[in-house]
Amino acid sequence: MYRPGRGFLNAPGPTNIPERVIRAMSRQAIDLVDEELEDAVRRCFAGLRPILGLEGGAVYLYSANGHGAWEAAIANVLAPGDLVLVPQTGQFSAGWVETAEANGVVCEILPHDIRTSFPMDKLAARLAADKGHKVKAVMLVHTDTSTGVTHDPLAARAALDACNHPALLMLDAVATLGTTKVDMKGWNIDVCLSASQKGLMGPPGMAVVAANDKALEVHRQTKRDRLYWDWTLRGEGPGYRSFCGTVPEHHIFALDEALNLIAEETLPAIFARHHAISRAVHVAVETWGKADQLEINALNPAERAVGVTAIRVAAGIDPDLIRSTARRMFRTSVAGGLGDIRHSAFRIGHLGDMNAPMILGALAGVQMALSHLGIPHGKGALDAAADYLAEAAAEASPALAAAQ
Ligand SMILES: *Cc1c(COP(=O)(O)O)cnc(C)c1O
Repeated sequence: MYRPGRGFLNAPGPTNIPERVIRAMSRQAIDLVDEELEDAVRRCFAGLRPILGLEGGAVYLYSANGHGAWEAAIANVLAPGDLVLVPQTGQFSAGWVETAEANGVVCEILPHDIRTSFPMDKLAARLAADKGHKVKAVMLVHTDTSTGVTHDPLAARAALDACNHPALLMLDAVATLGTTKVDMKGWNIDVCLSASQKGLMGPPGMAVVAANDKALEVHRQTKRDRLYWDWTLRGEGPGYRSFCGTVPEHHIFALDEALNLIAEETLPAIFARHHAISRAVHVAVETWGKADQLEINALNPAERAVGVTAIRVAAGIDPDLIRSTARRMFRTSVAGGLGDIRHSAFRIGHLGDMNAPMILGALAGVQMALSHLGIPHGKGALDAAADYLAEAAAEASPALAAAQ
């Protein structure tokens, strides 16, 4: 049945794919040694570097999702029996642990709650106690998409440096790359991974893994079975070998165009846009929360992610009903809760190809679902969010505002 107008896709992945990216994919396949393809692959490898803040090292692309990126990273720098430390952040630190353990890696989880940033002094203390340097890596999730809490990679680096610990710092930036600063060089991240369907605005199915020079050296010394994931076999070249087989051509066309969009908008503008939109969501949820039925999971405003907001609901409220009502009746897709808050939260994604009126539409969709279900919520959330965004727009582009 025809459903008029457009719906809103506000899950934290997959995210909206820009028209220009869709059009870039809408074409015939080409010969796998065509120079046009090789040029596009080269542009993808090169274009990801500034977004990752990578100097030296290498970028690898896989036909895989974020789970594939997890395994690719592990397979190249860790061997069975190696010990890694994992700050507990939520469902995504748990998922990465599951992948590592399936690869024979021994994971020591450093426990923490899901409502605040991981206190890196706990990591520093554990590393300082590791006099024999048994710990081979720290695996940190930048923003855990299940909680909407962002963790501090620079503080994790400081924890390693405080005791001159040689372990690798590995960062899951699936939810953050292309939405906020990721700075492999500045933060000295050894391995950073992401996926195509979040801030990179592509279809799901492309994994990004980047390694600095130190990680490449560790890779060369890590003896274990691997083939499809192997960095040495892939090199950072344009062709068949760099994908361990046929290049996923249409993914490359998509990523190539998405990187053009990112370059046109510029990273500072992208980060400012995500920041403003996320704050508008927080303003709206806090207004709804005045009736004491809803609250933002991330307790400290400064630790709230720019790309996703997890919203806890009071006992007796079914978050999946809010979700299905918003989707079916009001054409607004939001995501369900995950992990510990599986049955007591839902999540609004606000990353990627998103602007102010789009997020206002999505917030309206959620609010209509709350009203329809008779869930008490504070009034004025949409006005508050719109006022916030109007001000943020004037700040972001004073020249535009003055010209009117
Ligand atoms: C989405 C996500 C993943 C998993 O990505 P998939 O493409 O679903 O496998 C991993 N880590 C984080 C932080 C994510 O947000």
